Amino acid sequence: MFKNSIGSNGVCGIDIGGTKILIAKISKTGILKRSIMLPMSDGNYRKVLEKIIAEIKKFGNISAVGISIAGDVDGKKGILRYSPNLPKWRNVKLKQYFEKKLNVPTVVDNDANCAVYGSYIIDGKRKYKNFITVTLGTGVGGGIIIDGKLYRGSTGSAGEIGHITVNPGGPKCSCGNRGCLESYIGTKGIIKTATGLGLKNITPAIIASKSMKGNRQAIRVYEKFSEYLAVGIGSLINIFNPDMITFSGGVSNNWDLIEKRFFDELQKRAFKTPLEHVKIIKSKNPENLGAIGAALLSKTFK
Ligand SMILES: [Zn+2]
Repeated sequence: MFKNSIGSNGVCGIDIGGTKILIAKISKTGILKRSIMLPMSDGNYRKVLEKIIAEIKKFGNISAVGISIAGDVDGKKGILRYSPNLPKWRNVKLKQYFEKKLNVPTVVDNDANCAVYGSYIIDGKRKYKNFITVTLGTGVGGGIIIDGKLYRGSTGSAGEIGHITVNPGGPKCSCGNRGCLESYIGTKGIIKTATGLGLKNITPAIIASKSMKGNRQAIRVYEKFSEYLAVGIGSLINIFNPDMITFSGGVSNNWDLIEKRFFDELQKRAFKTPLEHVKIIKSKNPENLGAIGAALLSKTFK
């Protein structure tokens, strides 16, 4: 069906985010060989896709394309149904478009699924067969691998770890529910906690730097963050009994501030046997997991 056979020249991984797009050439083993970052433009998505195609063509021969994008994705058909970060992108037939323009097989999956697949191979070296990656950023997402296979759920909706209810009467979440994990540890939740403790004009990164300088309120923000994170992860451990859990996303860069309180709290939340077994780490390559995972996923579709 396609001119190039899989595996000949490396694959292309694309991570389409709300503000920027990473386009990368990835080796068969998941090593990033070349990459370019484009800003996301506000206008018509067709123009954005044309630019992406032009950049990929500069990479020379590639044998497949994998696309990671935040939102509701029909993975089988390769259609982005809806993305909260990209309101103008509705029912975009990404797979069809890329296959027509580049004549190589293309897969499309949501960012959390791509991240967990990338982490499964890069961080876990395919050795940890039951595997979860939690993305910590504006939103809190999750991808799940069971017995070495990506678990998408019956309607492709699995892994919404950020929307575990941790407080039935808690604040309203972007999903409409109350007291979701994300409403406490997503970027907005972190800032809300900080504001409640009297900190002003802040971002998670500023809170982290204040925390490292010994600011009591800032330290408390990440303590609270770590406690809520442990509540969510404790449930995941009890339900899935995974071999490995990794963290990615911008907020995971503050892992040093999170780690201690998180593990202390986790002792109280998770069952002893699965907790002793599971390996929990921050991903070694959190920035590029989406693109790498998407590229590697493309090789699973023959
Ligand atoms: Zn929610």
